[in-house]
Amino acid sequence: MERLFAVEVVYRGIFQKKLATNLTRAIVLAAHKEGKPAISFGRYGDSPERNGIPAKGFAIVGTDEVTLEEGKAKYEPKEVDITICVDDTLFKGVESWAWYGLQPINKLLRRGGTLIVTSLHEPETLIPMAHRKEHPYNLAIVKATPSFSGLWVYKDDHTDVRILGAVARVLPELFSLDSVQQVIREEWKNELKATSAQRSFERTTTVTVDPSQGNPEEPYKFEMPKWTEMREGIAIPAIPLGGQMTDPVTGQTGGWRPGRNATFKKWSTRTMRPVIDFEKCIKCTLCWLQCPDSCFYVTPDGFYDANPEACCGCGVCEAVCPEKGCVTMVNEAQFNDNSSQWEAWRKDAPAYQGSLAQWLKDRPARSHGFHVRGQYEQEVPSEIARQG
Ligand code: SF4
Ligand code: SF4
Repeated sequence: MERLFAVEVVYRGIFQKKLATNLTRAIVLAAHKEGKPAISFGRYGDSPERNGIPAKGFAIVGTDEVTLEEGKAKYEPKEVDITICVDDTLFKGVESWAWYGLQPINKLLRRGGTLIVTSLHEPETLIPMAHRKEHPYNLAIVKATPSFSGLWVYKDDHTDVRILGAVARVLPELFSLDSVQQVIREEWKNELKATSAQRSFERTTTVTVDPSQGNPEEPYKFEMPKWTEMREGIAIPAIPLGGQMTDPVTGQTGGWRPGRNATFKKWSTRTMRPVIDFEKCIKCTLCWLQCPDSCFYVTPDGFYDANPEACCGCGVCEAVCPEKGCVTMVNEAQFNDNSSQWEAWRKDAPAYQGSLAQWLKDRPARSHGFHVRGQYEQEVPSEIARQG
């Protein structure tokens, strides 16, 4: 019987581009081994890719040429059998170059489809992060730290083949473990990687996520302007300044909030967020001055509060803060909202300090690429220990 299969890979632009390409290419090659025509492609609208901005790649497989051609005509699949998410913080939602508003990570999954994610977290942590879906789907976790690399280097940590082994397990109609191992041997010429794929195939299990589970919030969206409503040319409004440092949002003096883009929320870009220990802050202004996205509000009592709706997670504020332990980048997966840290601290300082101590425990190594020669070799032993 004719059938079309679709797999999408949701990844962080640039840092995981090569990983996504390797995955969709290997899926196509493994399908070819079984006589199924297939094609892989990146989403045009995601280009040019930007650091950390979510992007997508697809693999489309048909049981025959005509079915594949029909699938290709749709360009971007409206429904997929498998979503592969290579960074668990993308569970909160995806705001890419090619999408307006926030897209749930499970948006394209068909009924009974499978969401495969690279994560160290358990389903109880991950499921509430993803938006609710109108029908049940399956969740499979490939236990690992999300794999990041740079533009010119590839972190060959077996994440690619472990995900391919999981794909063979959750959708055997697409290709068998044997087919994908043949591809791994031909493409990577590495028997160890073929063994990794097999182990992942054997270990992969799924849990069913039903419509009552997950984040009940309506994902952020907005009305696109009609072409008749657009302004001529391109004008980028400057941040409005009030006289005498009047807050442009509240109109009051004391405190300061910059105006900013009301429709593009940058937060789905980040894998880590800054947390601030206000009791260590010396009000030096450096974070406020240096943040590339003008995230910091000046509070009425002269502190600096990063707005998590606008923060892209670049880590500049942590780098420039002169007070040790005052600004710290921590794992984004620990948070389930974008509320103000300063307001929480003003409301109940001991409770805030308790939360802060908890957040600081999960402080991953800077995940965006490599920073020093030999970093990968240093990371291998701790990664092996984590994965058991
Ligand atoms: S990590 Fe810090 S400097 Fe970077 S965008 Fe967020 S608040 Fe600004
Ligand atoms: S850089 Fe650090 S010490 Fe200076 S204002 Fe920002 S949080 Fe406070």
